[in-house]
Amino acid sequence: MTKVVMVTGGSGGIGAATARLAADAGYAVCLSYVENAAAAERVVADIASAGGRALARRADVGVEADVVALFRACDETFGPLSALVNSAGIVARQGRLEDFDAARLERVLRANVVGSMLCAREAVRRMSTRRGGAGGAIVNVSSKASVLGSPGEFVDYAASKGAIDTFTIGLAKEVAADGIRVNAVRPGLIDTDIHAASGEPGRVARLKDSVPMRREGSAEEVARAILWLLSNESSYTTGSFLDVAGGR
Ligand code: NAP
Repeated sequence: MTKVVMVTGGSGGIGAATARLAADAGYAVCLSYVENAAAAERVVADIASAGGRALARRADVGVEADVVALFRACDETFGPLSALVNSAGIVARQGRLEDFDAARLERVLRANVVGSMLCAREAVRRMSTRRGGAGGAIVNVSSKASVLGSPGEFVDYAASKGAIDTFTIGLAKEVAADGIRVNAVRPGLIDTDIHAASGEPGRVARLKDSVPMRREGSAEEVARAILWLLSNESSYTTGSFLDVAGGR
């Protein structure tokens, strides 16, 4: 039976690379986007032209009805879900906590934390052997920021990833006996469009020399770690973190 993976944020950087690599590995891929339909459809077209199967749907992961509809669309198109990659995520503009308002904090936490939890809930409902599923794997895209804290840049974003780390540990234990493994990757400085959203498109160039390996990472390098955590190669690994951060 074909394995089916849901990749949230599959229109952008790490999610798009993961969608492409998963298709290469034989998964049917359902990917979500929130604004950039054209980028999502490009990923779908690339996968189709390489002989794979993919579907893109608009869904704001912070909106419960969108998430429910997204997973239903995946069920209807590809059948039983085997895996989830929670890659959708945002940063807000760089600054200091003293200047952040509640609307900003809620936006970051809703997309990064509530969104990942809602998607994981939908995946668990489908994959749990307690509920008639066949088991599966979840990979949360955290960040090295959860450890570093991102002072002066975006402590709210870093804290949202701290929540993802704790969620990964708890959910991994909660569903371990139900055939579901839950792990996280913690990317470091990865060359994607997310940095422009922080208000500094040149952030990667500014910081790359501070990385022990003296360079930024690529979305594909993160995607390879994600694919390993999804695969049976990591069959005894759950509640774990794989840093893809060049030693940062
Ligand atoms: P990106 O290129 O900006 O891609 C972000 C993706 O998330 C896009 O597909 C975007 O959709 C989607 N998205 C944003 N808000 C969403 C929402 N509310 N609902 C659904 N989808 C939403 O960023 P990236 O660097 O690949 O980031 C992917 C993940 O890696 C994020 O969780 C990020 O925190 C994490 N990460 C990145 C780095 C880095 O240096 N790049 C480092 C550590 C961790 P649209 O295209 O439609 O806008």
